[in-house]
Amino acid sequence: MKKLSQSTMLKYDREHIWHPYSSMIDPLTVYPVVSASGVYLKLADGRELIDGMSSWWSVIHGYNHPRLNSAAHAQIDTMAHVMFGGLTHWPATELASRLVRLTPAPQEKVFFSDSGSVSVEVAIKMAIQFWQSRGQTKKYKLLSLRHGYHGDTSGAMSVCDPVTGMHELFTGILPKHYFADAPCCGFDDPWDEQDIASLASILEDHNDEIAAVIMEPIVQGAGGMRFYSPQYLRRTRQLCDRYEVLLILDEIATGFGRTGTLFACEQAGIAPDIMCLGKALTGGYMTLAVTLTTTAVSDAISNDGKGVFMHGPTFMGNPLACAIANASIDLLMEGPWQQSIKCIEQWLRSGLSPCTQLERVVDVRILGTIGVVELDRPVDMRRAQHRFVDKGVWIRPFGKLLYIMPPYIITEQQLAQLTSAIVETIEEGITL
Ligand SMILES: *Cc1c(COP(=O)(O)O)cnc(C)c1O
Repeated sequence: MKKLSQSTMLKYDREHIWHPYSSMIDPLTVYPVVSASGVYLKLADGRELIDGMSSWWSVIHGYNHPRLNSAAHAQIDTMAHVMFGGLTHWPATELASRLVRLTPAPQEKVFFSDSGSVSVEVAIKMAIQFWQSRGQTKKYKLLSLRHGYHGDTSGAMSVCDPVTGMHELFTGILPKHYFADAPCCGFDDPWDEQDIASLASILEDHNDEIAAVIMEPIVQGAGGMRFYSPQYLRRTRQLCDRYEVLLILDEIATGFGRTGTLFACEQAGIAPDIMCLGKALTGGYMTLAVTLTTTAVSDAISNDGKGVFMHGPTFMGNPLACAIANASIDLLMEGPWQQSIKCIEQWLRSGLSPCTQLERVVDVRILGTIGVVELDRPVDMRRAQHRFVDKGVWIRPFGKLLYIMPPYIITEQQLAQLTSAIVETIEEGITL
């Protein structure tokens, strides 16, 4: 098969292919990438960019990793895929056992799916089926947080922030859920009990209708890159127990070390009833997600009339994705990940500290390997993306935020290139 020339490829892409959240009439530039290795993306024109995004949180070990490559090759030569209905295999069972061992007790039961959004749909259905099975048929609402993000499918959308999310466009089809005010106490701020008042009062008034509280632990990601106090999470756990409401924690972005602990809920020393994982699960090689839950939840669902959980994706437990996930988790657990993340956190602090002095910057926050610079007005995406590529880095701002969450293998010097690019770009002016 003959490859399209670059200009034909770009023209075809522009005319026929949707990119994430894009217009087909006035799309932003897309850059052809031909290969990726370590922390570098190689563009078709030969330029190499240091990746500050880890391809949206997922590529924790860097690209083209020999261990992950060899796990992929070994599995693809054995069995790329088989259906999971009526069949099972080592890649999935090994992965389940690793996840049960590593996640905070009492996560015991594992449901595989193919993307983060679907794992959230599954979590929501589990919570609702749990209460249905106990005869509590009125408990089918969710309580979510403002500034939350949980994915793009309908059920997931319905628990995303109602203002910045897609509620307005899809009001007609989205179920109405409850939203509590987002936490205001930052990660290191002294705790103010007022912070939990909104969540507490909704639970007090509506617990007979609420199946579960759903939130991203410690870091609210795509809804604003906000880091909040572990005490908020501890208080939420207590309130869920008091009012008999399940707690779903969406660790899709925060899982596998990103915030400094293996899972972000460990920062608060609590565990959910249902937990979603995705993104870094396969080290960014394949799309795979899981929903974990407790035996209490799975038993209740299974003891009900029909006794089955009503979900089963075609590519459930895909062996290729599971084999790579096993290798990725082994790689993480064998290495000094805590130390790497501490180093990156320090380098981010020093590298981004000049931002605090800059005009337009309202906040600089860092947690684990996540660095965020918040401006006082929206970034001009067209200009910003171009500038960053010219400086040899891959950073994709959104709204008023410039943020990076690099692969854990990044060196001090490579990270310094990312942070200087941010400082320089703000100095040069990139807001609308
Ligand atoms: C990315 C993300 C999702 C959605 O995952 P997809 O794989 O894009 O469907 C859900 N929740 C959180 C917190 C995420 O960061």
